Parts: sequence; structure tokens; C-alpha cells
Amino acid sequence: MATATAPAPAKPRHAKPKVADQKMLINGKWVNSASGKTFPTTDPTNGETICNVAEGDKVDIDLAVKAAREAFERGPWSRMSAAERGVLLLKLADAVEKHKDELAALESLDNGKPINDSLLADLPMTSACYRYYAGWADKIMGQTIPIAGDYFCYTRHEPIGVVGQIIPWNFPLLMQAWKWAPALACGNTVVLKPAEQTPLTALRVAQLAQEVGFPDGVINVVPGYGPTAGAALSGHMDVDKIAFTGETTTGKIVMKAAADSNLKRVSLELGGKSPNIVFADADLDAAIEGAYFGLFFNQGQCCCAGSRLFVQESVYDAFVQKITDKAKGRKVGDPFSTETEQGPQVSQEQFDRVMGYIDAGQKDGAKMLVGGGRVGDRGYFIQPTVFCDVKDEMKIAKEEIFGPVMSILKFKDADEVIARGNRTMYGLAAAVWTKDVKKALRLANGLRAGTVWVNCFDVFDAAAPFGGFKMSGIGRELGQYALQLYTEVKTVTMAM
Ligand code: ADP
Repeated sequence: MATATAPAPAKPRHAKPKVADQKMLINGKWVNSASGKTFPTTDPTNGETICNVAEGDKVDIDLAVKAAREAFERGPWSRMSAAERGVLLLKLADAVEKHKDELAALESLDNGKPINDSLLADLPMTSACYRYYAGWADKIMGQTIPIAGDYFCYTRHEPIGVVGQIIPWNFPLLMQAWKWAPALACGNTVVLKPAEQTPLTALRVAQLAQEVGFPDGVINVVPGYGPTAGAALSGHMDVDKIAFTGETTTGKIVMKAAADSNLKRVSLELGGKSPNIVFADADLDAAIEGAYFGLFFNQGQCCCAGSRLFVQESVYDAFVQKITDKAKGRKVGDPFSTETEQGPQVSQEQFDRVMGYIDAGQKDGAKMLVGGGRVGDRGYFIQPTVFCDVKDEMKIAKEEIFGPVMSILKFKDADEVIARGNRTMYGLAAAVWTKDVKKALRLANGLRAGTVWVNCFDVFDAAAPFGGFKMSGIGRELGQYALQLYTEVKTVTMAM
């Protein structure tokens, strides 16, 4: 007999997945590392091992590069039409979408980010990125150029060849998509080294790519550590291009390795210390929301985090009060609960580093209004922390913290804040909050950053380029601009 049932309650908690030990993908085969070594990937909520992962180093990178070279020059990939490459990317986008619950859970397990963030931000942006570049695959074209004399001159935009890609742990799925989608759309073959902290989703997406039909050797994934596997890839004589996202100091090492080996092409997306500037004439409630999200999102582990929050003096006190109250209410805890807004930092190393900056802020004389400590006694959870009265020369205003630590600075007028906003070695992003369109344009022009958000923050789209001025990087990912990162221009001149 049928009984009336109440509507199912919203899912309060997702299940933590169980994961088997992982191999690496070389030439279409799942293999152990040549050395037989493995490394543990850990759960940042408790520091326990999730599973062991094959640990690649130079020998495995050599094998992967060889497979990628073969696939580039002689495999079915080299004969495939651009439209067919696009279809494969579309199928990968569909596969990622189909497995979104599984991938989101894996991402939250390995990285510690709240399941709602994985499900509502990382996953849709990842499939959108593959889908966007699927559309570009057969629209990459050169020019015909009317040169002097009796010649026919045209350019071809050809794939560069074997591309090495090294990604960080803060947005593992998304960084993989930002790297793979344009590289594959342009016809390259890839060897990816995921971050040692978060290799799991990269390996799962590689499996999906195999299932949808990417030929053997086109994509290879070699997990391992930076100074071994990463260095072998960036210094490899048969890798034509290296794309890297991570810290500025590591970016320099990668660039040097590229220079010292075969002058491979280099693109870098590095650190930031982005100014987020709130004028007194802004919609303050919106600015508070934006500043809060722009700093605390992803446990503060964003290269573009609005980590220098400049607030104009006449609204400073009210703004500081309101945003501090908001930070006090932030729910820190189990990444698998849908109530959670903030999970743990990714690792003990990152936890220690962020706590070190909190110490430095206090020692330098900034005023700590909330937070400052750890949450619980297991895992890498840090209280949302707000400092006000921060001065430009303090360490917390100069260095990338990569954690849930907000630094609020006071300013008087537009000229002053443009100059102070630009007084940094970084230039990744900036934001401005004002209702005055003239002021908004003046700031947008004056700030030396690859992205300027006006009355918004962290608005990303696969179609909009992203990358850094100054020491925040070289090149632009996403949008049409990323095609330049993955193609060589060939000029053909034919006597008529
Ligand atoms: P973080 O300190 O936040 O982990 P990194 O820049 O060190 O940031 O890491 C980003 C990526 O760079 C990771 O995949 C890491 O393994 C890799 N990496 C680290 N050191 C090197 C290196 N010397 N050469 C190449 N890659 C490296």
C-alpha cells in the first residue's frame, strides 16, 4: 500500500569516497613507476593517507615524453582532423559532467575544499573549459598576407608538439582543464604532472579521456614531486613547451630549466597580491560580500585572492566592523557537509606557512580582530582571520599568504590607492568597488594587473583571458589568447 512520504531533505552530508592505490598513465597504459616507488596522498582533514600513488621521476618522464612524441608525429592523432579533435574534447566535457558527483567528491577528499564549492564551482567550470576549446579546435587559422612581389604568402598556426604541463593543488581539476583543453584543441600531445598533494582527479579525468577515445600517448599523466618529476619535465630536451602554474619562485626555476635545456616555450601563471579597492561611494553591502568571497573562497588558496583590501577612510570603520562580523560566522569544518563554507588548508606545510603569516601580522603591529588560531586538533583547519590597520610595508601586505587571512588597509583618494595598489612585484588581478563610472575606468586603466574586476570579484569564464603582469606570470590562459600559448606560427612564401 502506498504511503505518503515527505519530500527528501536536502543532502546534509556527502559520503567520503574510498580510493584504491593509483598507477600513472603512459602511452595509454596504467603502469607503476619504473623505480617501483609510490607516495601517499593525504586527507587534509586528518593527515591520514588516502591511498598510495605511483611516484614518477626522470625515467617515467622520459617514457611519457617518448610516447607523446610518437603520438604527435606518427599516431592517429597526427592524422585526425581538427573537427575530430573538437568532438573528442566535447565528449570529455560530457564525461566530466556525467561523473561530476564522483569527481567533486574526489576533489574535496584530496584537496579539502567544501563539497558545495567542488560541485558548484570547480566541476561546471571544468566541463565548460573543455567544451569551450572543443569549439576552437577547427577555428584555428592563419592569414594570407599581401607581401611585395610575385609571391603567395600565408601563415599556418601549427601545434607546438610535445607539451609538458605542471599544475598546483588549489584547483586541480580546473587547472588540468585550463592546460589540457587549449593544448589538445591546438593538436599538441601532453605530459601532465599534477601536484603531489592532489593527484587523484587528474588521474580519474585521464581515465575518462581514454574512455571517450583520445588515442594512446596523446595524454600522459606522471604524478610525482616537483624537484624530480617536475624538473625532469621542464628540463627535457624533447619537450617543446612547458606550461606551469604555481609559486613565482618555482616559476623561475621552471623558466631556468627551460632556458638551460632546449629553450622550450614557457608560459607561467604565478602568484599574486591583488589589491581589492573599496571606495566610499560603492554599494557597501555588495563590496563586503565581494571582499569576503574574494579573500576567503577556497580557504584563501587562490592566486588572485584579494589579499590587500584597501578601504576608503570615510567608510573604513563601518566596513571593518561588518566584514569582521561576517568572518566570525563563517562555518569551518567537514568538507563533505553541505553546511561547510571552509575546509582545511591543503597540507601541514601550508598550515604552518599561513600560521607563520598570522604571527608576522601580530608582530608587525597589525590589529587582529578575529581568528588567528587553528580549529580543532586534527587536520589543517584555520580560523578565518581579519587584520585591520595593516601598513604597506608589513609582511602580510607584501607576501602571498595563500590562506584565510584578510588584511585591511586604509586609503584617502584614487591617486594614492593606484600608486599603492601597484607597489608590488605581482600583477595578477585587482578589483574596484565604486558607483562612479569615471573612477572605475580610471582605476581599471591605472592598475597594473592582468584582470581588473569592477564591482565584482573572481568572475571567471573560459572565454575571458587570465594571467599576470610583472612577476605574476607570462602569457594568458583561457579565451582565444590561450591558442597563442599552444601554437607556432609558420610563414609560407611561394613564388608565383
Ligand atoms: P606550492 O609550494 O604551493 O606547492 P609550487 O609552485 O611548489 O607551489 O607547486 C606547483 C607545482 O610545481 C607542483 O606540481 C609542484 O610539484 C611543482 N614543482 C615544485 N618544484 C618544482 C621544480 N623544481 N620544478 C618543476 N616543478 C616543480
